[in-house]
Amino acid sequence: LYSKIMVPYDGSEHAKHALEYAKGLAAISDAKIAIVHVVPSGVMGVDQIGTEGSLDGVPFGMLNYEQYEGVVRAALDQAKEKVTENLAGLVEDIADIVTIDVVAGTAPAEALARYADKNGCDLIVMGRRGLGAIRGMLGSVSFGLLRSTDVPVLTVK
Ligand code: ATP
Ligand code: MG
Ligand code: MG
Repeated sequence: LYSKIMVPYDGSEHAKHALEYAKGLAAISDAKIAIVHVVPSGVMGVDQIGTEGSLDGVPFGMLNYEQYEGVVRAALDQAKEKVTENLAGLVEDIADIVTIDVVAGTAPAEALARYADKNGCDLIVMGRRGLGAIRGMLGSVSFGLLRSTDVPVLTVK
């Protein structure tokens, strides 16, 4: 049925439900699961270049490429640790079929669409909402991904 199911993951209860659902589908499909977390690049100072943040006293806007890479790498490593912690108890039973990737992107939806495309994901299972406080029909990442990808998307409450 499916060969690789992508689960966009923000650590929310909705995303956890999505992961549970994906695990069920993966089991009957003999599919792999790709958990993907996008670190919005604004969070790492990329959107505030020159205005906010520094590395060893050097403002982000004045970093050379290598230094800048270091800032991004550190932010991704930190996020990966948090995501892995958040996933404790949820992925041990699928250790042989799951990957956990943390990628950077200014727009999470577009980064997720690109990931699905590049990695041959043939189904996306995600939360209808996420960590956002506002109640509504569909979160902006879900909505944005539906708009940006041709891969079928299944949203889970
Ligand atoms: P909003 O962010 O629009 O205020 P929200 O947080 O309730 O609202 P979304 O962010 O769209 O809703 O979250 C819906 C689903 O999208 C989540 O359950 C998760 O599957 C996925 N998602 C959200 N943010 C990310 C992210 N940074 N990286 C990967 N997946 C994400
Ligand atoms: Mg948001
Ligand atoms: Mg959100």
